[in-house]
Amino acid sequence: MPEKRDYYDVLGVEKGADKKEIKKAYRKLAMKYHPDVSEDEEGSEKFKEISEAYAVLSDEEKRSTYDQFGHAGMNGFSNEDIFRNVNFDDIFQGFGGFDVGNIFEMFGFGGGRGQGGPQRGSDIYGEVEISLEEAASGIERDINIKHDVSCPICHGSKSEPGSSPETCQTCGGTGQVKQVTNTILGQMMNVRPCRECNGEGKIITDPCKECNGKGKIKENKTINIKIPRGVESGSRLRVPGEGNVGDANGGYGDLIVLINIKQHKYFEREGANLYYEQQISFVQASLGDNIDIPTIDGEAKLKIPAGTQSGTVFRLRGQGMPLMRRESKGNLYVTVNVVVPQKLNDQQKKLLEEFAEISGEEIQKYEKGFFDKVKEAINH
Ligand SMILES: [Zn+2]
Ligand SMILES: [Zn+2]
Repeated sequence: MPEKRDYYDVLGVEKGADKKEIKKAYRKLAMKYHPDVSEDEEGSEKFKEISEAYAVLSDEEKRSTYDQFGHAGMNGFSNEDIFRNVNFDDIFQGFGGFDVGNIFEMFGFGGGRGQGGPQRGSDIYGEVEISLEEAASGIERDINIKHDVSCPICHGSKSEPGSSPETCQTCGGTGQVKQVTNTILGQMMNVRPCRECNGEGKIITDPCKECNGKGKIKENKTINIKIPRGVESGSRLRVPGEGNVGDANGGYGDLIVLINIKQHKYFEREGANLYYEQQISFVQASLGDNIDIPTIDGEAKLKIPAGTQSGTVFRLRGQGMPLMRRESKGNLYVTVNVVVPQKLNDQQKKLLEEFAEISGEEIQKYEKGFFDKVKEAINH
């Protein structure tokens, strides 16, 4: 999120500006950026920004908190708190036609719909660890989750069976409080969620004992998930409808499962390709060989041609990971490293010396250890 701008800058007023100047500045900007009139794409964002600045600076208490502590001082206020005492009717008097309820909806606390309407429940999250082999073949896994479900006794109504909630007297059951003001240019409507019933339109008089009037209970469940072949580590699987139930039976959120793939004993993975390092002896490298190498689903033969150099990479087509939702597979790349023996017995030494001789290679034998030689070199 970008850093919040200073409220005085937002309205373009001096720090010492009085109430009148602040109101005038806001009014001017609001006329420009109100989403009903603004053609600017960022109009509604701008409008939010100036409205928030105005809400704070027009309220003595909030303004002095802001002057002392800046934006940090406003953390304790919810959006609703910030806008509580603002009289937008007063601002837009004479301009008419603006639906001020809009402002509340823009800030995401109720507005036109009222707070208590059905809302989709939240998503929940799970995690599964699988092997690279399982990622290659695809696998089913059971995972245990705990989510909010609709209360089996009151079915989400929140009231004890047999009792019914009372219609809220304040809003007449609509969950909203409307104020209509006549202005010179037309009617202006101001809609807020009803505070008496939290925007639900009803007041629960006898809360359900099973769920304590919440309308939902926690439930453990085992979910079978199908992990597709070719899945990448870090990918997220969405299982629709296995999240939490929303308020007022507003439907279920989703279960989102993070897939982690364990580090493999042999293979490194990059997309659909696999990488493997194989050590071979200098004899194998020199004479050539046919060797067994592991693959993701078994073994394969790899022909090492005579005269293979250390570091040579061989490609085994189609021996990599499957591609998601496709028939093709990646490749397996095998890097061969030629290993020089660290210990030789007398017979091996003798044969190698003969080998060198036949090759016309002159070898100065080192009988002393490496460190002795270093010492000697230093002493000379
Ligand atoms: Zn209940
Ligand atoms: Zn109400």
